[in-house]
Amino acid sequence: MRRSNAHRIAVIAGDGIGKEVVPEGLRILETVASRFDCAFEFDHFDFASCDYYQQHGTMMPADWKARIGGHDAIFFGAVGWPETVPDHVSLWGSLIQFRREFDQYVNLRPVRLMPGVPSPLANRKPGEIDFYVVRENTEGEYSSIGGKIFPDTEREVVMQETVMTRVGVDRVLRYAFDLAQRREKKHLTSATKSNGISITMPYWDERVEAMAKAYPDIRWDKYHIDILTAHFVQHPDWFDVVVASNLFGDILSDLGPACTGTIGIAPAGNINPERRFPSLFEPVHGSAPDIAGQHIANPVGQIWSAALMLDHLGETTAAEAVVRAIEEVLARPEYRTRDLGGNANTAQCGKAIVDALTG
Ligand code: ATP
Ligand code: MG
Repeated sequence: MRRSNAHRIAVIAGDGIGKEVVPEGLRILETVASRFDCAFEFDHFDFASCDYYQQHGTMMPADWKARIGGHDAIFFGAVGWPETVPDHVSLWGSLIQFRREFDQYVNLRPVRLMPGVPSPLANRKPGEIDFYVVRENTEGEYSSIGGKIFPDTEREVVMQETVMTRVGVDRVLRYAFDLAQRREKKHLTSATKSNGISITMPYWDERVEAMAKAYPDIRWDKYHIDILTAHFVQHPDWFDVVVASNLFGDILSDLGPACTGTIGIAPAGNINPERRFPSLFEPVHGSAPDIAGQHIANPVGQIWSAALMLDHLGETTAAEAVVRAIEEVLARPEYRTRDLGGNANTAQCGKAIVDALTG
């Protein structure tokens, strides 16, 4: 049934296990629609995949922006099939295009220790690790400004600039403070390195301090990136919302999920908070060619990504219900997939989460 207030979702399964886990995510969203007062319209697209590249010689059609730019969100599986298309071609021809053209300036990763998922950190229990990493996704250290002087000589010099803008820094900080405001602990940590990087990082600190004035009830602190990585491992319970520049955020957003176990369950959002453009939700894992086609992939990363998407769309009650259903199922060994030491296949795990949501 078509409802005028339905969320319009562009679905891109992509490559490899993306094609196996996306259907499980969609089953969850259909269940959500039947249980909660919300509706979805799904439009499926075959581009942004290596199959599409093989047929068309490009990752996406020329009019891709017009075809998905009007949707409320993009529900994405995984892209990449290095056997046929080099990773830099598939990645730059798809996800990086979305990030840039849709101004997805926040990269969001929840870091949460789930029941049944062994953490490499000793003695940590579910509930003790539960925070978000918010990464600036469009500027900072990843600028392409720079180059070589005296190339291929003994005097060779190579430089690359970090570019921070007030607009760019403030908007990601605002997102992070707003997120902290919605959380119980109301605590924000900023990653920095102002002792070594003496111009851009002090500027970042300055903007955090200025922004904090608008959020008097939020406790905040800052750590240099080196000791912060140590604290992620030794004191993950200290954190609530961690905000960082593009490079530091890149590092922390891999370290965080690594501290909470398997890559198969972690979700990510590439977000345009104002919803002027569609945001993209995808599992942290890739297309996993080594297990593709075997129907043993863990669908939790994709399903948790659906929960992140629901939250972004304002369906917070449904989002929380999906995360609770995931927790309930992971606590039961019989529904765990192989990467978690279980025997369940992708569909069995997915169905168990659907049942938990309806039960
Ligand atoms: P990317 O495509 O982001 O570069 P990658 O190629 O480094 O990622 P993945 O495709 O994520 O890595 O796979 C890394 C390893 O984790 C592989 O051995 C893969 O089988 C395993 N893996 C990834 N996702 C899942 C999943 N959902 N369930 C089970 N195992 C997974
Ligand atoms: Mg890969």
